[in-house]
Amino acid sequence: MAATRFLPIALALAGAVTAGTAGVALAGTKPEALLPGVTAPGGKPEALPPEAGAPRVAQGGVCTPAEQAVLDEAFAEARTRMRQAIRFVAERPQDPHVVRYFGTASVKQVRWTLERIALRLDQPGTFGTSCNDPRGCNRDIFAYSERGRPHLGFCARFFRSPEEGQDARFGVVIHEMSHLAAGTDDHAYQPANVRRLAQENPQLAVLNADSYEYFVETLPQAMVRNGAKLAR
Ligand SMILES: [Zn+2]
Repeated sequence: MAATRFLPIALALAGAVTAGTAGVALAGTKPEALLPGVTAPGGKPEALPPEAGAPRVAQGGVCTPAEQAVLDEAFAEARTRMRQAIRFVAERPQDPHVVRYFGTASVKQVRWTLERIALRLDQPGTFGTSCNDPRGCNRDIFAYSERGRPHLGFCARFFRSPEEGQDARFGVVIHEMSHLAAGTDDHAYQPANVRRLAQENPQLAVLNADSYEYFVETLPQAMVRNGAKLAR
């Protein structure tokens, strides 16, 4: 039913509270630029680059071979980073990095969510993907998930995102997959808001998609580089 395809997740969660965000978003979108006043210091400018450099738009959301290659690489990187993140939390549940993003919340719940995301990333046959579908994309959106349908859509802004750093392509994949696999919501966007949420409302931080994205994107670098070896 077209009218309910993008039902905002927040409406479906009893007692859901938004933290410092405003405006209407699609379910599971990651539209930072739609949320005035939440840009972190030094963060991305609200103004977006012109569309001229974006990949060619496929009609109806079919991914071009070039887009599919970018997606495959981002998903592969997301799988690798999720394994590192799960091991990090298992070995260092009290690490300041865990506290920074999830405060005093249950580490078991953090692990459960990370494991759900990782498991679903390893089951690509259980969800669909699309690229630049005008029914779900606009110029501000990186990607979106849909309620009631195992599907992730990726938009032009995703294909302009970097490989590393804030809002890296693998991080956007983790964000969207957290909605699909673990039922997270968007309570706060952007690193500064996410870290504040961890301190002020850890029960919401463990349900917040960007918290997982930034937790993994900023996992201590020695962990990312050395694989099995933890940073000291
Ligand atoms: Zn989201």
